[in-house]
Amino acid sequence: MPDRSPACDLRSDTVTRPTPAMRRAMSRAAVGDDVFGEDPTVRQLEELAAGTVGKEAALFVPSGTMGNLLAVMIHAEDGEVLLGDSSHIRLSECGGHARLAGSPAWPLATDRFGRLSPADVAGAVHGANVHQARTKLLCLENTHNFCGGTVISAEETAAIVAPARKAGLKTHLDGARIFNAATALGVPAAALAAPFDSVMFCLSKGLCAPVGSMLCGSQAFVAEARARRKMLGGGMRQAGVLAACGLIAIEEMTRRLAEDHASARLLAEALAGLPGVALDTATVQTNMVIFGYRGARGRDAAWLQRELARRGVLALVLPAGGEPRIRLVTHRDVSRADCRRAVGIFRGLLARQESP
Ligand SMILES: *Cc1c(COP(=O)(O)O)cnc(C)c1O
Repeated sequence: MPDRSPACDLRSDTVTRPTPAMRRAMSRAAVGDDVFGEDPTVRQLEELAAGTVGKEAALFVPSGTMGNLLAVMIHAEDGEVLLGDSSHIRLSECGGHARLAGSPAWPLATDRFGRLSPADVAGAVHGANVHQARTKLLCLENTHNFCGGTVISAEETAAIVAPARKAGLKTHLDGARIFNAATALGVPAAALAAPFDSVMFCLSKGLCAPVGSMLCGSQAFVAEARARRKMLGGGMRQAGVLAACGLIAIEEMTRRLAEDHASARLLAEALAGLPGVALDTATVQTNMVIFGYRGARGRDAAWLQRELARRGVLALVLPAGGEPRIRLVTHRDVSRADCRRAVGIFRGLLARQESP
């Protein structure tokens, strides 16, 4: 394919290009005006997505950020949202929950695996009073991006969500990479989404679609989300050309994620022993490897990123949450051999730099 990435691009699984099958499906897709509800391919994608995560209905949205924002807008209007302190919604969506939905965050401590404590959830819920806005929504993230793609099991999820339900809150799952979690746990995605009123997942990351995410929930919730998507400028017309890729993403690309997880494990095991690298291999559960780096002579994560890039390996420096860390994400467009080559580059760079 002419449009494979030239470098070993481990910055994110969002860099994946649409597959040849997706390109073919785009050219053949039946389309219509989806704002009029007349795009048959979008309709088909929405039906497949809803069924796949066990919800009544689904909405095709341009991005995961818009899907999460719609969920907060609908579930938490004029109220507060319980958010993990290192959640993507809190750290990486421009504060939209507060700025656009009018729902401030009540941050909860996140453990190193992305989990919230059920006791913290119970203790954070409050009614409206002279000091506080009413707590209306709990959001969870699975896999957890800034914890390193960590997985929360169905049992752990149920325990975290239970106190929120008991207190009458709505619940939303930021399941951008829910199929990575399902693959790692060996359970259907629907089992991980079951406790929630709504779930968002991305087609555009490890599933290789060029654009789009799905927001899933009850019929009534999705009808409301459809109206508000239009308000946000997310009403799309002949979006069937994109939805055609989404169908392949769900039907086919969800089946190959274990390969990415194995590649991440290979990287993690090789990097964990290198000088200056601080890597908790227990957090490497899916397609990500996040680690700190402090080398000799003041060399830091930014230095490492630069030197890797000069050798054709692209990594991301995460500013979110304190000390800068390096993130590597495996995906369909980096092979196992690419990862082995990357390990060699890491070894050459770090072993040599640390010797006197
Ligand atoms: C990528 C991501 C999103 C947002 O998706 P976009 O399509 O990039 O807007 C939300 N949550 C998590 C955990 C993500 O990794």
